[in-house]
Amino acid sequence: MLVMPKFEYVAPADVREASRLLLEADGKGFLLGGGTDLLVSVKQRVIVPSLVVSSRRLDELKGIRHVEGEGLYVGPATRLHQLYESPVVRATYPLIALAASVVGGNLHQHMGTVGGNLCLDTRCWYYNQTKFWRESYGLCFKQGGDACYVARGGQLCVAAYQGDTAAAFAAMQARLTIAGPRGDRQAPLTDLYSGDGKTPFTLRPGEIIAQVFVPEPTQPWKVFYKKYRQRGTIDFPLAAVAGALLLAADGRRCLDARVVLTGVHTQPVVAERAIAILKGNELTEEIIQEAGAAAAKQAHPAKTTHDTPQHRKRMIAVLVQEGIREVLGQPASPSAA
Ligand SMILES: Cc1cc2nc3c(=O)[nH]c(=O)nc-3n(C[C@H](O)[C@H](O)[C@H](O)COP(=O)(O)OP(=O)(O)OC[C@H]3O[C@@H](n4cnc5c(N)ncnc54)[C@H](O)[C@@H]3O)c2cc1C
Ligand code: SF4
Repeated sequence: MLVMPKFEYVAPADVREASRLLLEADGKGFLLGGGTDLLVSVKQRVIVPSLVVSSRRLDELKGIRHVEGEGLYVGPATRLHQLYESPVVRATYPLIALAASVVGGNLHQHMGTVGGNLCLDTRCWYYNQTKFWRESYGLCFKQGGDACYVARGGQLCVAAYQGDTAAAFAAMQARLTIAGPRGDRQAPLTDLYSGDGKTPFTLRPGEIIAQVFVPEPTQPWKVFYKKYRQRGTIDFPLAAVAGALLLAADGRRCLDARVVLTGVHTQPVVAERAIAILKGNELTEEIIQEAGAAAAKQAHPAKTTHDTPQHRKRMIAVLVQEGIREVLGQPASPSAA
């Protein structure tokens, strides 16, 4: 049985105070959302905190607010199920509702928070293990060691970012308000991710995501969220795609497109090449195939999990193609998987 190590636990009611406490803990302090990721890592001694700061009483980080004609304000301590249960999110921001509804299983969606999902630690076979297992193997870069067992000879950790909602929020061009010891700052959601699997977030010491803002779509975007995982529930994405297409009146020509990948790199990836192929073109089968292939080229999965990088890359192409066909009302290809 894995038991929790000892740490101090506090539940402040003020974000600034939470930020100050985290700063003072000097890298050993962690904000607790639903704990569905953090507490697993603490039990495995992957993370050994001296202080855990709960967001339980931080009411200013909770809730969903829609301002007509402006956008959606989501508190990071909002639970994931609240996203897909919200009528306004389902109606106006359906991509976000779709992605939230396939995170893990029902319990993860009821405990897990938006902030925790966006700040989900990168994952790897050699990292998400018990202390006993890791020590018997030898510590890698992400654990303070001097090797990577996945990219042997490489200098960087290539652990995968496998959060679901980040791709959807990024496709909706979400922006963050980040609260820190010296005040608030704003940043596009995509700037949250560093691209380094070892330290995957650009948050500075003591900083907390205080709000996620999604601008209101001014056009009728058609959206899809396609996820490949081992089982139909409870599993992290091995590859997933959030897509949004703006179609001309003929329902065939693509006026604008957004495609964001997750699960296949150290951070979410905006699939610029696929977007360039889709934009301005009639969505013929040839263009759909090309867009899928282009997105797959931008996926860089490593051997961080049981499935092969080649298959996960291939699945990106399949998911992009399936998503576009779904939006166009075409049947799924029989050769999909
Ligand atoms: C079996 C299993 C399956 C899972 N499947 C999936 C899946 O399919 N897809 C998926 O995306 N996730 C999955 N998860 C991971 C996890 O359940 C979700 O990502 C969840 O949303 C994490 O949210 P949380 O509130 O529980 O995060 P926590 O565990 O509380 O926190 C995670 C990290 O985020 C940080 N954090 C939390 N809030 C903030 C904030 N406001 N500002 C800055 N940092 C913050 C914490 O300090 C911590 O480092 C799975 C987990 C398990 C155990
Ligand atoms: S990718 Fe390499 S450095 Fe990163 S967790 Fe895995 S083995 Fe460790």
